[in-house]
Amino acid sequence: MSSAGVTAGGPLSLVSRRGTIRRRRAAPPMAAIGAGGVATSPILTHLRERCATPLPVLRRVADAMAAEMRAGLVSDGAGDLPMILSYVDSLPSGDEKGAFYALDLGGTNFRVLKVQLGGRDGRVVETELQYAQIPQELMFGTTEELFDFIASELARFVSKEGGRSLHLPQGKKWELGFTFSFPVKQTSVDSGILIKWTKGFSVSGTAGRDVVACLNEAMERQGLDMRVSALVNDTVATLAGAHYYDEDVMVAVILGTGTNACYIERADAIPKLQGLKPRSGKMIINTEWGAFSGGLPLTEFDKDVDSASVNPGEQIFEKTISGMYLGEIVRRILLKMAKDNALFGDSVPQKLSTPFILGTPCLCAMQQDDTDDLTAVGAILSDTTGAQSSLKEREVVVEVCDTIVRRAGRLAGAGIVGILQKMEEDSHGLVLGRRTVVAMDGGLYEHYPQYRRYIQDAVTELLGQKTSENIVIDHNKDGSGIGAALLAAANSKYVG
Ligand code: ADP
Ligand code: MG
Repeated sequence: MSSAGVTAGGPLSLVSRRGTIRRRRAAPPMAAIGAGGVATSPILTHLRERCATPLPVLRRVADAMAAEMRAGLVSDGAGDLPMILSYVDSLPSGDEKGAFYALDLGGTNFRVLKVQLGGRDGRVVETELQYAQIPQELMFGTTEELFDFIASELARFVSKEGGRSLHLPQGKKWELGFTFSFPVKQTSVDSGILIKWTKGFSVSGTAGRDVVACLNEAMERQGLDMRVSALVNDTVATLAGAHYYDEDVMVAVILGTGTNACYIERADAIPKLQGLKPRSGKMIINTEWGAFSGGLPLTEFDKDVDSASVNPGEQIFEKTISGMYLGEIVRRILLKMAKDNALFGDSVPQKLSTPFILGTPCLCAMQQDDTDDLTAVGAILSDTTGAQSSLKEREVVVEVCDTIVRRAGRLAGAGIVGILQKMEEDSHGLVLGRRTVVAMDGGLYEHYPQYRRYIQDAVTELLGQKTSENIVIDHNKDGSGIGAALLAAANSKYVG
């Protein structure tokens, strides 16, 4: 394999649940991958070649990411990356006090949170949390239907708290940090126009509207004494939440259903920031790096996933590295192998033709299978696609999963280095050669050990052992909820 020796054990190695590489017991020669049949199919060979991410490819991607960031800071539309101004120019100081709410709409999951802040000594005194799921039909419904559902969940949460919410001073409203993880055009910290839906959402009538007004109006319809004080992306909220505890946090990356990254930029390095410069001299920039496409090693399968998507031609980086798509890329590869190479025998398993039948959590579960006969892989394939598989076929499936996940993780790592590189080029010594923390969150990052390791591998290969030791890639679970509440507090209407 040409991918810089990342799978140290070669095609017969698997990564165990503990993330260590172990060599599977040697299979009989005729059954071994590479000994004939499906395993050496041109499809698999071609796939490995096309998905390879040796150092020059990683470097090309990191360089392109840095260049696109720079272009996007000059003017909107100048490059692939929107480089959205967040208008978050003061991070929480630690002195914030009182009760604040946060609402996180990030994709399939949706959360409501109440945070009690106790100032510098008390910090986060108490948090209460409620999860909900956006019903599938609301992802394709109207704006009012979606926001009414969200506001009603919020009202349900508030009513469950009972009497504690009664201490609202006359004339005041509860303040809410609204984490909204879709691209918006902001002109202030408490307003933002939706540019477009992503991650499979296709709600009518929202694009071009202020999502803060949509939520404020829906909350009013529910009779809630609450208003939005800060509209933030989940990435921005994650950065704020992580930075509250560790001032070396400079970058935040989300790898969940979709993907995004943000970082702290110097105001004088943002040519498109017109008018008054922030007093802090800094602003968080939401890169919307899912839109990146420069220099990626793509295959026909990626192109097919893209053209069948609700947003063809857009969000190419997201479609290559994020949780929504990895399972679907693998499904398409397996379908082609089933049709052209009789993987799974003479007939093509019927369910294998169903889009999105194979989720990324299935890939992850299959890659954790360390039984000798790949029992879990067999069961997952049977459950999801109806395929009955031999050991040899299961090994091929695991190899396909690993090829796609390795590419994804390594490209995410290259993207992170691209951001660090851009920051370092502008201010030598700002991020490299000192401790710098990249706060990571999202279900894909949290649950997929191989993915995490591939990110780290790429960062180490690109920066070198010594420099990369100072770059701390740190899981910051659910920091965005507290981050959004903190930003509501930092931008409170009732302070100052
Ligand atoms: P969202 O991105 O929708 O806000 P999360 O951050 O929780 O939500 O990420 C959910 C995504 O994470 C899922 O769509 C899936 O792609 C991925 N994911 C969840 N569980 C696992 C798992 N066990 N293994 C791999 N990926 C997972
Ligand atoms: Mg999320």
